[in-house]
Amino acid sequence: MSFRPPKGTYDVVAGASQPISDPQIWRSLLGEWEVWAERFGYPLTMTPVFESTELFERGVGGSSEVVTKQMYTFEDKGGRSITLRPEGTAGVVRAFLNAGGQGAWKGAYSGPMFRYERPQKGRYRQFWQVGVEYLDAEAPDADSEVIELGYRYLTAVGVPGLELRLNSLGDSECRPAYLVQLSTYLNDRREKLCEDSVDLIDVNPLRVLDCKVCEPYLTDAPEMTDNLCDACRDHFQSVKTSLEALNIPYVQDPRLVRGLDYYTRTAFEFIGTELDAAQNAVGGGGRYDGLAESIGGRRTPGVGLALGVDRIVIALGSAEAASIDVYIVSESGAGDALLAASVLRQDGLRVDFDTEGRSVKAQFRAATRSGAGTTLVMGGLDKPVDVRTGGSRLTMPLEEVSDWMNATL
Ligand SMILES: [Zn+2]
Ligand SMILES: [Zn+2]
Repeated sequence: MSFRPPKGTYDVVAGASQPISDPQIWRSLLGEWEVWAERFGYPLTMTPVFESTELFERGVGGSSEVVTKQMYTFEDKGGRSITLRPEGTAGVVRAFLNAGGQGAWKGAYSGPMFRYERPQKGRYRQFWQVGVEYLDAEAPDADSEVIELGYRYLTAVGVPGLELRLNSLGDSECRPAYLVQLSTYLNDRREKLCEDSVDLIDVNPLRVLDCKVCEPYLTDAPEMTDNLCDACRDHFQSVKTSLEALNIPYVQDPRLVRGLDYYTRTAFEFIGTELDAAQNAVGGGGRYDGLAESIGGRRTPGVGLALGVDRIVIALGSAEAASIDVYIVSESGAGDALLAASVLRQDGLRVDFDTEGRSVKAQFRAATRSGAGTTLVMGGLDKPVDVRTGGSRLTMPLEEVSDWMNATL
């Protein structure tokens, strides 16, 4: 077959050898996400995967690389400029405003995002993000709660070497003066900086702090956190105090600026320190008090979080979890296995068997391949079954299997 997935994309299919394509990891990560988002009070939110281009130009910000270089933008048959969403926040905030949103509001999303980037391991042109937005929420505890959700989820799914990095980017009160100071500092070192960074000085000097190439020349650059106004300093201190009370360790990182223009005050990233440094952010987020106004809505302070599920899959490495609990080997034909599987499935077990009437030997091979922890051998519907788990073998009526497994395994 001559077709491959488009450059920078991947399939999630059973039988694929790459962890990124393993259906079981994806199902467990997405399922676990729903559990954690609900625990924190975030209901499901779904918005279109494409929006008007202007939403992202105004919402994400015209100087961000995402908007200038990475958007999948096209004209539809009605002559509208359409863009495949490069991130989730702008669409969710738009949906909140369109719904006439009043008062504190929470929403959780999960879905594909699209950016035209140079593909490499951990960076895809279609990638999957899960995230939350907490809108009309101004107090620092909202930031802390959003950060806690990300931390608890990433800890629960087992991202190795998880590290939380935290910064404050100030607000319209204190950031302008800081940016003047930073621009002056950068202009003094213009000849040392890379071309991209020089171009950024006048557009978005904060982003220069992000440049790995220029890093060695910027060691004594002025830092936002030394230039916060009183309100921003109090807000930042309060977020840090809450995280400490929640026993969530963090590293303060004055270089953390995030790629999108809309952040104010709190910015954070979750790093998988065992991943390659260039692609080690498994997620992040922050506060975006000006976003709703920039897309034409009323002032709506908010804070959010987005986690890259592709990155998390890579961080977790190869699959360990099996996708089924029990594989049935039937000596009396596939029809009996179909009925026995139905009983166990209604009891809540994940069950598979061979529908094709293969030999018992072939069925045992399939059982091994399935990764199921338990193999159940049956010789007829009215006979007790043989339950094999690890090294042990037990005989019992079919109806008792699920109770026995729940009690023992
Ligand atoms: Zn640079
Ligand atoms: Zn401020």
